[in-house]
Amino acid sequence: MTAGEARTIALRGPDFVPVLDGAAHVTRFAPSPTGYLHLGHAYAARFAHDAARLTGGRFLLRLEDLDPQRCRPEFAAAIVEDLRWLGLRFDGTVVRQSERMALYRQALDRLRAAGVLYPCFCTRKQVREEVAESAAAPHGPSGERLYHGTCRGLGAAERAARIARGEPYAWRLDVARALERTGPLAWYDVRAGWVEADPAALGDVVLARKDVPASYHLAVVVDDAAQGVSLVTRGEDLFHATHVHRLLQALLGLPVPRWYHHNLIGDRDGRRMAKRTGALTLRHLRARGTTPAALWRMLEAATAATSACAASAGS
Ligand SMILES: [Zn+2]
Repeated sequence: MTAGEARTIALRGPDFVPVLDGAAHVTRFAPSPTGYLHLGHAYAARFAHDAARLTGGRFLLRLEDLDPQRCRPEFAAAIVEDLRWLGLRFDGTVVRQSERMALYRQALDRLRAAGVLYPCFCTRKQVREEVAESAAAPHGPSGERLYHGTCRGLGAAERAARIARGEPYAWRLDVARALERTGPLAWYDVRAGWVEADPAALGDVVLARKDVPASYHLAVVVDDAAQGVSLVTRGEDLFHATHVHRLLQALLGLPVPRWYHHNLIGDRDGRRMAKRTGALTLRHLRARGTTPAALWRMLEAATAATSACAASAGS
């Protein structure tokens, strides 16, 4: 398999609970409490739950509540309640990322000491404008424009002066330098097989900001290792994030799990069923009298529709 093939793997067909060399999978469901759970969440939770239960493993719940602006305690409580209603019992106590900032800071310190981070002083608006102005801006796997690396080349004196002046900054991962340290990496996805890691495809991602000391990428990697997650299950929209996660695991000397990127739930038009499209929340369905059994039937129909859409889109 060449690197090119690895990058264009299409995940087709219905999902299945993987039995891998008799391993008992430790899985997790890791939503952000920024709203009520919808059908897509129910599917992700059920998949992680079944993968653990059918192999005699453990199913964990983690709340990814890093962003204090968007996360709310009532949504966190609703997640626990909705899982109970669905009949998906999790093992152990709920892990909340907002309570684990010290761990993320430690990981960030190690990366900084390894010389693979740099401070980026660009505001989000600057990054957007710079990227919009340049036709030659590199593109990510979903067609999004990537950060230019403007601050990668700043000298040590300028960095120190700007930090001393109190300019806000984010820590970005210098992917090229990081890869020099680790050498080539690969990761295993149950449906895609062995994938050659290509973290450069996402550019120099942000690992921490002034207001939030850990980004999604850093916190996920630290937590999956700390919780002993052996099979990371999540939607295929996060397939490319795994390149970065594999690199961070190598840099931090963490155990490497296996991944299963499952189908996303589509509605009848095959559109992704996400919060922003106004998908029905579990709460709303329950209030309407839907039972969990009826909900699982709806999901089976929705996944069948998604598979059919994927098949016609690929032909
Ligand atoms: Zn910058």
